Amino acid sequence: MTPDFLIIGAGATGLATALELADAGADVAVIERGQAGQESTWAGGGILSPLPPWAYGDAVNALSDYSRALFPDWCADLRARSGVDVELRHTGMLILPPHDTTTATTWCEAHGWRWTTRDSGDFLPGAGREALWLPDVDQARNPRLVRALRGAALARGIRLLESTEARALRVDGDRVTGVDTDGGPLAAAACIVAAGAWSGILPGLDGFGRRIWPVRGQMLLFQCAPDTLATVILENGRYLIPRADGHILAGSTLEDVGFDKSVTTEARASLLDFAHRLLPALGPDNLTGQWSGLRPGSPDNIPAIGRHPRLANLYLNSGHFRYGVTMAPGSARLLRALIENAPPPIAPEPYRPE
Ligand SMILES: Cc1cc2nc3c(=O)[nH]c(=O)nc-3n(C[C@H](O)[C@H](O)[C@H](O)COP(=O)(O)OP(=O)(O)OC[C@H]3O[C@@H](n4cnc5c(N)ncnc54)[C@H](O)[C@@H]3O)c2cc1C
Repeated sequence: MTPDFLIIGAGATGLATALELADAGADVAVIERGQAGQESTWAGGGILSPLPPWAYGDAVNALSDYSRALFPDWCADLRARSGVDVELRHTGMLILPPHDTTTATTWCEAHGWRWTTRDSGDFLPGAGREALWLPDVDQARNPRLVRALRGAALARGIRLLESTEARALRVDGDRVTGVDTDGGPLAAAACIVAAGAWSGILPGLDGFGRRIWPVRGQMLLFQCAPDTLATVILENGRYLIPRADGHILAGSTLEDVGFDKSVTTEARASLLDFAHRLLPALGPDNLTGQWSGLRPGSPDNIPAIGRHPRLANLYLNSGHFRYGVTMAPGSARLLRALIENAPPPIAPEPYRPE
């Protein structure tokens, strides 16, 4: 049966979009080159906030704020459908100096974000420093989010075709008719490109305006006692993220190396140094993992969400760069509204693909 929507890419963006459209009554299929969610979505840190929000423009914060607010209900719904707890946690985020306190606090006051100053010694050992505390920053646990999204999609009757690679869009005039895959052609009434960092290189997708490119990020994982760290720590763009079971992530790098997903000894040394300096409990002895992921980079971190400028039944939901987990439910809702010609939940103009 020809689906109403064929979505290319089963990361957080593609699966959130699939669920949104299936809940609206559409017949949805998703094709995924590998296994669902194993690329950037699995690799990310799951901090639900720009780092920090005042470093970004209104377009990033409008979508991020809208989407963050959806998380409690979204995660509860995913759990009910899949049985998987995403581990949405209200751990807050402590921002260590250097930062411009006036800019930060002025921004927080203007945008309704709660803040206070805290002594870093409240969370980290050693001499305390005055730091900025954002109590309302949440986090989700990425591998669990992947399992929850995949389980929810299957439970909803979405056809998930894993190990299926889109090779090219099939285009006839101003419409797409489907996708050529490594398993043969698939027809579709409409297509949605949610292929993350690979969205810009799909043959047939030329000329949608926004550039999307891969930005490698490397992470380290440590195993500690569960109460080692109580909050996310951010310092100069790098962070520590404590999970409920005592795992702590240290990240991340921002590297322009194309589609190369290797991990490097330089990144390991640099992240290890950062982590150990902030929290001496983190060292080579309890380092249990290193990995990398390719973020879908986009100018100013602004994703492309909406109809393709030339192809009437082709849509994009991609280019979420550093905040694709944060923005997943909000981007899916926004795209659904645009497809249905319903009033959009936030102003859609900044995200228009053209
Ligand atoms: C180290 C790191 C840390 C991060 N930290 C955070 C954070 O703290 N908070 C946050 O909000 N975000 C974070 N991010 C960013 C976030 O993870 C991404 O923005 C988000 O996962 C993008 O989701 P996506 O579904 O668009 O892309 P992906 O998860 O990459 O999914 C795209 C999917 O499309 C598939 N695909 C590609 N091409 C094809 C094809 N031709 N045919 C079929 N399938 C195809 C891929 O296999 C992949 O599964 C981080 C990312 C990294 C790498």
